[in-house]
Amino acid sequence: MNSDEPLDEPQHSALNTRYFRRALRLRCPVCGEGRLFEGMTMWQSCPACGFPFEREPGYWTNAVTLNFMTTGGLAVLLVTPLAYSGLPVLVVLALGLFLGTLLPLLCFRHIKALWLAIDLRIRPPTTFERLSGFLHVSGQRTVTSRRRDSGGHP
Ligand SMILES: [Zn+2]
Repeated sequence: MNSDEPLDEPQHSALNTRYFRRALRLRCPVCGEGRLFEGMTMWQSCPACGFPFEREPGYWTNAVTLNFMTTGGLAVLLVTPLAYSGLPVLVVLALGLFLGTLLPLLCFRHIKALWLAIDLRIRPPTTFERLSGFLHVSGQRTVTSRRRDSGGHP
């Protein structure tokens, strides 16, 4: 079998589902082992396989837009029924403002991870990305081992 042949549809679908499951667990969609975030900060590349998460300049613009649309829509869905419930308008507006601020902060890590999974479904990792990730991880190990070696010898 030629390795350049595209995957048939069932294998391709299973692979895509794997990307989404890993992203929802906030793990690297490519390997499933490395974490995407350290606290609220995203790693530049996977700590396990070295896959670079920012695949091109301006890569997260679509994730920010997706976060705004998703959480804004959710806030509108939650607040709109309250507008017809007889609550004072200022209370409804304050609740809308509160949800409109809180929801994007709570959801941005998962939305970013989902955007990465969506993009990987459309554009699977290239050989260059996998290779550069492997070299990056290998380079980190080399630097770490050098530090360890030089630390014992003044
Ligand atoms: Zn990885």
